[in-house]
Amino acid sequence: PLMRSLLTRRVPLQVGRMCYSSSVPTTKLFIDGKFVESKSSEWLDIHNPATNEVIGRVPKATQEEMLAAVDSCSRAYHAWSDTSILTRQQVFLRYQQLIKDNIKELAKEITREQGKTLADAEGDVFRGLQVVEHTCSITSLMLGETLPSITKDMDTYTYRLPIGVCAGITPFNFPAMIPLWMFPMGMVCGNTYLLKPSERVPSCAMMLAKLLQDAGAPDGTLNIIHGQHDAVNFICDHPAIKAISFVGSNQAGEYIYERGSKNGKRVQSNMGAKNHGVVMPDANKENTLNQLVGAAFGAAGQRCMALSTAILVGDARGWLPDLVERTKKLRVNAGDQPGADLGPLISPQAKGRVHQLIQSGVDEGATLLLDGRNVKVKGYENGNFVGPTIISNVTSEMKCYKEEIFGPVLVVLEADDLDEAIKIINKNPYGNGTAIFTTNGAVARKYTNEVDVGQIGVNVPIPVPLPMFSFTGSRASFRGDTNFYGKQGIQFYTQIKTVTSQWKAEDATLKSPAVTMPT
Ligand code: NAD
Repeated sequence: PLMRSLLTRRVPLQVGRMCYSSSVPTTKLFIDGKFVESKSSEWLDIHNPATNEVIGRVPKATQEEMLAAVDSCSRAYHAWSDTSILTRQQVFLRYQQLIKDNIKELAKEITREQGKTLADAEGDVFRGLQVVEHTCSITSLMLGETLPSITKDMDTYTYRLPIGVCAGITPFNFPAMIPLWMFPMGMVCGNTYLLKPSERVPSCAMMLAKLLQDAGAPDGTLNIIHGQHDAVNFICDHPAIKAISFVGSNQAGEYIYERGSKNGKRVQSNMGAKNHGVVMPDANKENTLNQLVGAAFGAAGQRCMALSTAILVGDARGWLPDLVERTKKLRVNAGDQPGADLGPLISPQAKGRVHQLIQSGVDEGATLLLDGRNVKVKGYENGNFVGPTIISNVTSEMKCYKEEIFGPVLVVLEADDLDEAIKIINKNPYGNGTAIFTTNGAVARKYTNEVDVGQIGVNVPIPVPLPMFSFTGSRASFRGDTNFYGKQGIQFYTQIKTVTSQWKAEDATLKSPAVTMPT
């Protein structure tokens, strides 16, 4: 376990923290292989969302600290990109084992800062771990191409090479998985990496950095800074940073895409969502309702792939009472309490926003079938809890339909047939994920062909692709042209060098200058 491995090295468990003047621990920066206390005069509180207690502080790194971090990445780049691919592979082979050994401790920290249930927090680590496991195939993933004899005695071949210092900016909802989408892929390709985790959940990233160091990643190959807008602007502007990976809201993602691109960087930006689950009347009812409830309310709806909108088609409209009954059985509690199905939202502000969006539905004429606004959780009266909420009779003009709610709220629309459902979805600006529930193959095929969404589940409610594929959200859910992880992830973190060479067996001295293009 991380605790034991850290203790044997005489390092305190909370590697990212140390005691500040009060009894609240502070999150450190990770610069050039050292966990260092920031000299910043600006600090942000970290809260346990189940209690709203302040459990830590995170600095807004100073310009000097951010420069030191990026300089460390730049210095480490030369040696790391030159390190044999087998050595880089070995680091990540050790890393995936260390993550497995420490999954429970990582999950505990996620629950403490982010609020999700312990089982779901383990899933958060596990889905990131799968990306790390995939990076261990780098010896195949990074192969170039060759084409011999393109003309007499001439061959062409390509190398896939790293691009330099890369940076990642991550959201609060997956403190392990999303950082693990980023730096392992970037680093295994030979880049060095600057990470800015979400200021609301920074500790898991610090633990992941410690494990990476234990796995043998040289000093400077990963640096971590903390902060908000200044840190983001620093990353968008610093000339040494060649590529930015961002995951989070549209407001931040579009800004980062514009500013980073303007500065000549590659940017991949995964953003918000409104994912529709289409329920056909021929679907397996039991299975469909259970999947829908799990995908709408799991993680308190704070997933970019949450199925937050249901479209009941034809006779499936009659399934609403059953949907409500099943939902009522979910248990709301602090994430570390046994039996909790969903935990709190990240902040009182998030809770207030979700309350307002529920109310907007009522005000605009929708029907509130289940209202989670007054949920009480014994022993956690100050937590940011919202109970599962179902709003029916929603139309595509309503605010609760148009905005990403990012809470445990399912809005329900109705459609007469599949064509009408597809029309609704294709009119919605987001294209992250969707699912159809049906037992009819032709219906499923029509749906997957016609719906303009990047990730589609057929009887699979949350179709997040495994890392041998890529995360392919589209339209307003994505900016850039190369997606996260899988083959596209490798492409994002590498550039191609193409060599054309001619080795003639006999003397090939040109008799005169060749002034025309070779034909
Ligand atoms: P957020 O945009 O508030 O924060 C993400 C990161 O951007 C943080 O590191 C934060 O410090 C920084 N940031 C925030 N506001 C900024 C601004 N105005 N300018 C510059 N930087 C800023 O997102 P969040 O609330 O942490 O995460 C939730 C959002 O992320 C949801 O919209 C969700 O759908 C989305 N998300 C998308 C995916 C995906 O793969 N598509 C995955 C997870 C989350």
